[in-house]
Amino acid sequence: MIGIFGGTFDPVHYGHLKPAQDVMRELGLRKVLFIPNNVPPHREQPQLPTVMRIELLQLALQEYPRFELDLREIERDGMSYMLDTLISLKQDYPDESLCLIIGMDALLGLTRWYCWRRLFDYCHIVVTARPGYSLPDDLHPEIKSRLATSAQALQHNEAGKILIKSVSLLDISASDIRQRMARGEGVREWMPASVYHKYSEIISLNAD
Ligand code: ATP
Repeated sequence: MIGIFGGTFDPVHYGHLKPAQDVMRELGLRKVLFIPNNVPPHREQPQLPTVMRIELLQLALQEYPRFELDLREIERDGMSYMLDTLISLKQDYPDESLCLIIGMDALLGLTRWYCWRRLFDYCHIVVTARPGYSLPDDLHPEIKSRLATSAQALQHNEAGKILIKSVSLLDISASDIRQRMARGEGVREWMPASVYHKYSEIISLNAD
């Protein structure tokens, strides 16, 4: 089973890396692909230029041997729809089960994703806990019906299950990091040291 972690990574931080690592360990994933988006469909556009988001991600992934950078959304150009990404991943990994890792905030917006129901033809979804977000009582019936009670359900099915995973909670977001950096506050402990140094360099160059 392969993990997929998509995001804007503006910039990458431990709120991405640590939950992905927890899921990889607990589900025995062979590797996790980190896929930076080109044009994110559901949010404002990134502040860092794409090359810099990628450079920071490359630095971060150096510390995690089973995390891999995958540039297919950048190379594809245009809107970065997860459905297109999954279709192309399935072509590259026809014999492997795909496991999309998203935070709880992303699950709450899933029904607004492009052709969201079709995602379940290609992957399982593992949802990681995120401070400030919890499963609502009025969860969409289809999402509810796909909830798995254990990780075994993911092994027994090729795709289509949703597993909620409690991971180490990290109250970190890239928006918070951007705001703190703009105010000159430290964010050193929220990302690997190599990423922090490069990111500080980029921000100070932009400020000049
Ligand atoms: P921004 O604050 O700019 O919206 P972000 O920190 O939420 O960014 P994204 O790149 O938008 O990061 O998120 C990519 C994925 O990472 C999403 O699935 C999101 O739910 C997840 N994620 C981000 N931060 C955390 C966190 N602290 N804990 C768990 N999941 C997270």
